Amino acid sequence: MRIAVIGSGIGGLSSAIRLAKKGHSVSVFERNDTYGGKLGIIKLNKYSFDTGPSLLTMPHLIDELFQMHGENPRDYFNYRKKDIHCKYFWDDKTNFTAFSDKSKYINEAVSKFYIEKDSLLKYFSRSKKKYDLINELFLFRPINKISTYLNFDTVKALLNLKLFQLFSSLDQVNNNDIGNRYMIQVFNRYATYNGSSPYLTPGIMTIIQHLENHYGTHVCDEGMRQIPTSMYELCRKIGVKFHFNKSVESIIVKNKEATGIKLNNKILKFDKVISNVDVNITYKKLLNDKTYLSNKKNMSSSALIFFWGINREFKDLDLHNILFSNDYKEEFKNIFEKNEITNDPTIYINITSKDIKNVSPKGCENWFVMINSPKDIGQDWDKIKNTLRKNIIEKINKNFSVNIQDHIVEERVFTPKDISINTNSYLGSLYGESSNGILSPLRRHQNFSRSIKNLYFCGGTVHPGGGIPLCIMSSKIVSDLIEKSN
Ligand SMILES: Cc1cc2nc3c(=O)[nH]c(=O)nc-3n(C[C@H](O)[C@H](O)[C@H](O)COP(=O)(O)OP(=O)(O)OC[C@H]3O[C@@H](n4cnc5c(N)ncnc54)[C@H](O)[C@@H]3O)c2cc1C
Repeated sequence: MRIAVIGSGIGGLSSAIRLAKKGHSVSVFERNDTYGGKLGIIKLNKYSFDTGPSLLTMPHLIDELFQMHGENPRDYFNYRKKDIHCKYFWDDKTNFTAFSDKSKYINEAVSKFYIEKDSLLKYFSRSKKKYDLINELFLFRPINKISTYLNFDTVKALLNLKLFQLFSSLDQVNNNDIGNRYMIQVFNRYATYNGSSPYLTPGIMTIIQHLENHYGTHVCDEGMRQIPTSMYELCRKIGVKFHFNKSVESIIVKNKEATGIKLNNKILKFDKVISNVDVNITYKKLLNDKTYLSNKKNMSSSALIFFWGINREFKDLDLHNILFSNDYKEEFKNIFEKNEITNDPTIYINITSKDIKNVSPKGCENWFVMINSPKDIGQDWDKIKNTLRKNIIEKINKNFSVNIQDHIVEERVFTPKDISINTNSYLGSLYGESSNGILSPLRRHQNFSRSIKNLYFCGGTVHPGGGIPLCIMSSKIVSDLIEKSN
């Protein structure tokens, strides 16, 4: 079959790889001049920065894409498991190192926060049980297909419904199960991994913590950009065709069937069309259908990112670092209710020069400083950016007894508006709809169109969700659906 993939984000690239394996002729159309979507890269003189994801979990899902073509993924990219997942800092000088080794992690929590070892072990084990019950049923299969639910996995999940803690928020679960306020904040933060609020997302989301603590965090030898680069190289090798600087204008639909795409006013015919473009933009712009739009209120958070070239090293910091806000609840209230950023936000500092060579001059560091922020609804980002810069510099100075301004030698800033423009993401949301609310996973758009035959969807804004691993899972669902459609 001739298959068009619109967009070369992780979902688009992995769909192309899977469908080429099935013998289809796959063409990828990308409006930018390069592949990768949110996994971009920028250079500021001798400093270089990944512009999107910084945390790599479940890399075996990427490896699988190479292995299915008989290729050794290590010939394309390499990664190492991190000994430290993240370093956490609070303004009162409390700190916590999340070690990848479970006993070291537990010892750190017990000694710093006097948490009972048993309650942590119970928390980890319950999260694992939730994941084991849900992953085959939900993450690798299409939603809204009866066949997904007619099996023993569903019966098992239903029998264990209480275990999922669906009717409590993540914060409530963490309060009940963990108790210590520092540790609660550490575990609450996992809600942000899909752009949600711990006070609104259900307790089932302890599974995100499980993915990190069980599968570990990893670092690519040449940075995150190496992931789409390797996938692109594989695509080229297996015959996938790429068309860059080609913004698809619309998806052609005839008699309720997708028959091709419109590009530069020309119609190109295809047997199947897969959209890797944000699902809201797909409907609004590519299908000219204004009836489908995610609930604006429920969109995931966006980000305001400062890319700083720093002219010295900070020995206390690692690859992933968090400086927590003093009022976490207020921070999320600001993001999701007021569409604002609090004066004391949590600061994420990602420094790839800690683990990767040649991304900053010797003795210097490349700081990717990210603040969770609301979606773009036309706020005055220039004004917000300036206030925020002042506030976060103050907080960094206080935490590390430094005047960081003196050490910033390069700077670039991305606002939610930039993210929206760069990757054509609806309102600049990083993950499509958030997981706020008990029914949120079921509200995500499925991976196929109910009303238009031969039209499919992959990527972070559709089922099963945002983030690199889930985007890859979406490509598996799409390629299985296409296989079954014949
Ligand atoms: C700042 C930031 C931090 C993040 N942190 C993490 C993290 O640490 N770990 C993690 O796993 N995930 C993280 N994510 C989320 C992750 O990046 C996304 O879920 C994932 O990359 C989305 O991939 P996608 O397949 O949906 O495609 P996208 O990356 O959204 O790409 C879509 C592509 O479609 C193209 N396109 C759009 N319209 C058209 C058109 N009309 N014609 C042709 N092409 C078009 C776009 O140019 C783009 O290349 C982060 C995201 C951001 C932005």
